[in-house]
Amino acid sequence: MAQADKAPRQNRTLTVDFHDEATYCQLLDDTKAFIEFVLAFILSLGFQLQHTSTCTGNSLTRHSHYARIRLGGLTIWRIQCTSCKAVFTILPHFVLRYRKMHPDAARDALLATHGGLSLELCAAICHISPMALYRVICALGKQSLVAVLTRCALPLPVYLLADEKHSKCLAERVYLPTIVSGRVLWHLGYSDSKSAAAFTASYGVFQRAALEHEPLYQVRGALTDGFDSTTKSMRTLFPGARPGYCLRHALNKLPDKLVGLAAPVRKGLRSKFHTLLHRCRQRKSLRVVSLGQRLRHFVDHITATAGEEHGERVRNWVQDKKVGWYAVLADPQMPANSTLLDQAHNAIDRKLFSMKGFHHADGSQAAFLTGLAHLYNLIPYQRRAKNAGLCGVEVEGGRVPTSDWMLNLQILTSGGYQCAPTPLHH
Ligand SMILES: [Zn+2]
Repeated sequence: MAQADKAPRQNRTLTVDFHDEATYCQLLDDTKAFIEFVLAFILSLGFQLQHTSTCTGNSLTRHSHYARIRLGGLTIWRIQCTSCKAVFTILPHFVLRYRKMHPDAARDALLATHGGLSLELCAAICHISPMALYRVICALGKQSLVAVLTRCALPLPVYLLADEKHSKCLAERVYLPTIVSGRVLWHLGYSDSKSAAAFTASYGVFQRAALEHEPLYQVRGALTDGFDSTTKSMRTLFPGARPGYCLRHALNKLPDKLVGLAAPVRKGLRSKFHTLLHRCRQRKSLRVVSLGQRLRHFVDHITATAGEEHGERVRNWVQDKKVGWYAVLADPQMPANSTLLDQAHNAIDRKLFSMKGFHHADGSQAAFLTGLAHLYNLIPYQRRAKNAGLCGVEVEGGRVPTSDWMLNLQILTSGGYQCAPTPLHH
């Protein structure tokens, strides 16, 4: 019999902090108190419930309950909106969705994973199986980065850094198309091809999620390293965005254009190029005109000192890339280099290395990577005094529900919440 097409069931789980298990068990016997507690918690977070799209109701009723066998018969309640009939599953904070693992065990294991310890060793120190840890990360990754970050009241990024990380799945080369804005990862995809079509498909996942959240979303500038497939996919998906090329990448590429010259000469020219870019960025006005002029002089200088052949090669390179450099200088808000993206890639790299044993062709790579990206965005870091104790989301001006990152992870990856619109100032 043909199966009727079913819309994917929306995850309307709500993780609620009941303080302790005893409070939860008490509330189970009192419908009114239970719903009041849940509503007060949602209010304290400043969240709204994800009703059906047209619903304006806010009256909830206790709907049904069931026992979780895996959790030793723990009772889980569902509540329902009386207007749109949307059903929300209330998950107490001491339970992970669909998992037997206790959040405290998951907390330690996830922190160790985030720190770069192999899945096997993370599992060993927390007395769980490596596969169970892998599955927890995949389960977190079921919620998209856009969904979680917008729940933190972060605006969709107007300027992007986009680049791919090269990795390996067993012996095969694979690519992780990535979008970063400041300290936050907005997309971490997975592709076994480096074609423009494959990258467009991957970055398109971000675009779709963003447009779903904000139908008028537009990108103003996208900085890349200038790799053809990346720039093409950005142009396809965000035709209105200025495509900029990373200036630091340009600086590092210059010596390749001067092969055959003595090392000190190449070094000298690179440093001259560095000064040139720096001076242009420091200018308050006419930055693009200034760059154009300086680039012409620079090429003339190379021709005069290193010969016509080198001059010609650098001239062609400049001709090819200058539009992307102009784009960086034309808009002061445009990021000038991809350092923050490289840092994100380096952090993810340690985890990918640590998951070598779990790479297989039919794995849940997309969910696993998204799960790792949530950890990157939400685990506080202590590296610099300036942002000590803050997670990436907070550094970028977002709000997290509580001061406990694990609880935040549980709350923010439960699909029943959405960020309440910011109240208008009068
Ligand atoms: Zn409703």
